[in-house]
Amino acid sequence: MPHSLPLVSTQHHPVSLHRGPAGEGQFGLPPRAANSHRPGRTRPEDVKIQRIETLVLSRGVRVHAGEISWLWVRVHTDDGRVGLGETYPMATACEAVIHAQLAPLLLGRDPRQIDRLWADMKLACETFGHAGAEMRAISAIDIALWDLLGKIAGLPVYQLLGGACRDRIPTYNTCYDHLFDFTTHAGPLANSLLEQGIGAMKIWPFDQVALRNRGQYLSPSEIEEGLAPIRQIRDAVGDRMAIALEFHGYWNLPCAVRIAQAVEPYQILWLEEMMPQDSAPAYRHLAQATRIPLILSERYMTRWQFREVLESGAAKIVNPDLCWCGGLSEAKRIATLAETWQVPVAPHNCGGPVLHLASLHLARNLPNLFLLESVRRHYLKEYQGLVTETGAASEGFLTTPESPGLGLDLDARVFQRSDVSVREVSL
Ligand SMILES: [Mg+2]
Repeated sequence: MPHSLPLVSTQHHPVSLHRGPAGEGQFGLPPRAANSHRPGRTRPEDVKIQRIETLVLSRGVRVHAGEISWLWVRVHTDDGRVGLGETYPMATACEAVIHAQLAPLLLGRDPRQIDRLWADMKLACETFGHAGAEMRAISAIDIALWDLLGKIAGLPVYQLLGGACRDRIPTYNTCYDHLFDFTTHAGPLANSLLEQGIGAMKIWPFDQVALRNRGQYLSPSEIEEGLAPIRQIRDAVGDRMAIALEFHGYWNLPCAVRIAQAVEPYQILWLEEMMPQDSAPAYRHLAQATRIPLILSERYMTRWQFREVLESGAAKIVNPDLCWCGGLSEAKRIATLAETWQVPVAPHNCGGPVLHLASLHLARNLPNLFLLESVRRHYLKEYQGLVTETGAASEGFLTTPESPGLGLDLDARVFQRSDVSVREVSL
């Protein structure tokens, strides 16, 4: 059916406001919970996006690649509801895309038309490629729209995705840990996770070798160096712990094959991103050279990139990141696509608290969930004081809140922090 989709609305004249660092007195912002809903005014059939607000937390959270900053987006409707989204890293690049490219297209539109808005946003960004800051910005908006839809419908997001396939979400812990360093204390770390009920962990014991020689060569002694933490875990807890290995894309093909063969005796759960993500033929060769499943890849964006890696036969598990791949909408579509290849999903979940809650809702819904990633340091420590719900594990499992939307809001103290900068654009 023919239709016209304006890339930029001509009905509205968005007003952009850069408020700089957040603060109550400086910007006339009362301390508030993020869901300042004013009930009673709405006729839901008329709801519109009135204002889009971004918050950049400049204080980074440390991972293997250094400190990464988070961006939160708040989509406000004209009836006072607020949807919360998130993306990362390089938050200021995504902030620019939201204000310059996406906001003019979104203001005045019905936030419940998630598929149409997603397609319009993608169309507006296609000239510049389908990946990078543009798709991360779209992802943040998409997650906020799902949060909004849940609040409008009065339902938690997992119900809107099709309901629960499970109430207790199985998880593995990515070991950016606040208690034990896996490079020196892998055994105590494994025991500590088992005590918490978590029976799967991810480590990256070959990264230090790769960083020394740019992933181009591997000596026999360096293989032994990389194997040491794996052996420590097996010595400490036997086969009670599943071990996933992460490589952060550092290696070339022959080194990746050599490592894959060296770790095969240790019943490894999966091999993650052994090489850069931009060569499907290389990954096909690697998949043929090992019996261990390859998981690919948080670095792929949209169903189109995942289609290629699924067609190559390399990916035995996929791990889209909701804040990068195109949001909750696209992650659900990628999971369904993977299901047609009998491939399960282990969503990448190593960012901020909104990603964590959004991933919980998706994981509660997906028929083909494998495991959901989580980082105990994040939900026990880093998210504290930032949000109203941290999504902590209980007895080794995760679950979602039952409140409408994603079930979390930014803590009122976030708006008063000197390391948070706020911009907004409105009708
Ligand atoms: Mg990874």
